[in-house]
Amino acid sequence: MKIHILTLFPEMIEGCFKSSIIGRAAQKEILSLHAVDIREYSTDKHKKVDDYPYGGGAGMLLQAQPVYDAWKSVTGGERVRTVYLTPQGVPFSQNMAAELAEEPELVFLCGHYEGIDQRVLEETVTDYVSIGDYVLTGGELPAMVMIDAVARLVPGVLGNDSSAEEESFFNDLLEYPQYTRPEVWHGRKAPEVLLSGDHRRITQWRLEQSEHLTEKVRPDLYGRYERKQRLVGQLLKDKRNHIHMIESLRRGRAEIIWWEGEDILIYDRKCAVCMITASSRKAGEKMLELAPAETETFVSSQEYLNEILCADGPTGAQREQDACGNSAVFRDFGGHRGRYEVHSQCYQFLYTPKVPLPVKHKDIRKLTLEHLDSVSGHYSYEGREYVEGRIREGVMYGAFVGDLLVGFVGMHNEGSLGLLHVADAYRRQGIAVSLEAYMINRILEKGWIPYGHVIVGNEMSFALQEKLGLYRSSRTVWWLERK
Ligand code: SAM
Repeated sequence: MKIHILTLFPEMIEGCFKSSIIGRAAQKEILSLHAVDIREYSTDKHKKVDDYPYGGGAGMLLQAQPVYDAWKSVTGGERVRTVYLTPQGVPFSQNMAAELAEEPELVFLCGHYEGIDQRVLEETVTDYVSIGDYVLTGGELPAMVMIDAVARLVPGVLGNDSSAEEESFFNDLLEYPQYTRPEVWHGRKAPEVLLSGDHRRITQWRLEQSEHLTEKVRPDLYGRYERKQRLVGQLLKDKRNHIHMIESLRRGRAEIIWWEGEDILIYDRKCAVCMITASSRKAGEKMLELAPAETETFVSSQEYLNEILCADGPTGAQREQDACGNSAVFRDFGGHRGRYEVHSQCYQFLYTPKVPLPVKHKDIRKLTLEHLDSVSGHYSYEGREYVEGRIREGVMYGAFVGDLLVGFVGMHNEGSLGLLHVADAYRRQGIAVSLEAYMINRILEKGWIPYGHVIVGNEMSFALQEKLGLYRSSRTVWWLERK
């Protein structure tokens, strides 16, 4: 990920990141951090960058010209995700950090004095973000706070990739209390359960502690968590047809956008996937209006929703341009009408026993970027970039014979298992069964229900799923991708 910081104090930024984990990630070239001195772009002979605000008032403002030229020097004038740090922005959050961590390039604009001329903000900024309800002297500390939170979510920056799932704010809960040696300190004993070695009990204890703490200290977060739990409870009544939604909520990925009875719209911000199920066309139409504008993929449970999302004719962007140049009167369903195409129609398969499966093929290893060419060369459903993201996230595994990669499996970005492939010469040797069983076991270790989607008509895959003990949904879902 490339990060540019536009600032009047580049030395502050450079000093801060030199020796930290972020600095090490920069050395390993996982991140590049580039502080740009706005003052160098001043056209004033004294390198002045500020002036008095029109209309009077206290303090000075950063002028538009040096800010714009500094921004243009890194973006070339192209639209790159540009964050302006300001107390007037939306509050920064862990969810926002996770979303920004998916970007290949970010620009942070640090204000100073009383702020920045509004006109240049309107031309360059995509996100206005505050780090809290207080006023600091400049945007450098807020930028560093944000960069630290975002960068540690970029795969490879922290040693242990799964740690974000056990931290505060994951799934709207605060982290449980932790203890280390000695067992007794100042007469206080570490909780017995943590010394028991019983992982199931430990997990349960930690969850209860997290719930109690969150309810007490952050009732706002707890309210969201509890609502999700109630929705999961409802969806579990028809587990096989709603497993994608259940797991997306339980794994702390999706937020509820709309829920009223059987009408449900949830959104996984990290991969821009909306999952929707409606009790009627009218209810579905109402929910589509609420789906986030950035939605890249819909997983729809009703065919009539596809008719709207894939409709011919004008889309949201043309809303105000009908044939006569008059304002158009059709509904554009939140800008989603006609913007998507059906990618596949799938059955869902889920594995509900909590027991791990036997894995016959012994040489299965986590894949690294050195395998990217080979994997993306054989997996044609998604592009190379997608496969690279899966490898970076540490969720792709390969079967090897000697040093030869003969097959692979992985977890899709929204959590379903898939990306299964075995080289022709190695088929009918049980390698696909081993790979999928291995992936199922990894998912079980996390306490999740393994599930996958299989395109209607793929009888070979149906047979494989059934052989492994997965069972099938009674209805299908449709995957729709943005055109
Ligand atoms: N006049 C501004 C106001 O009242 O909203 C405050 C300006 S502040 C003194 C100077 C700069 O510090 C801002 O332009 C912004 O970049 C940064 N800043 C201050 N507080 C911040 C906060 N809570 N979150 C993010 N940035 C902040």
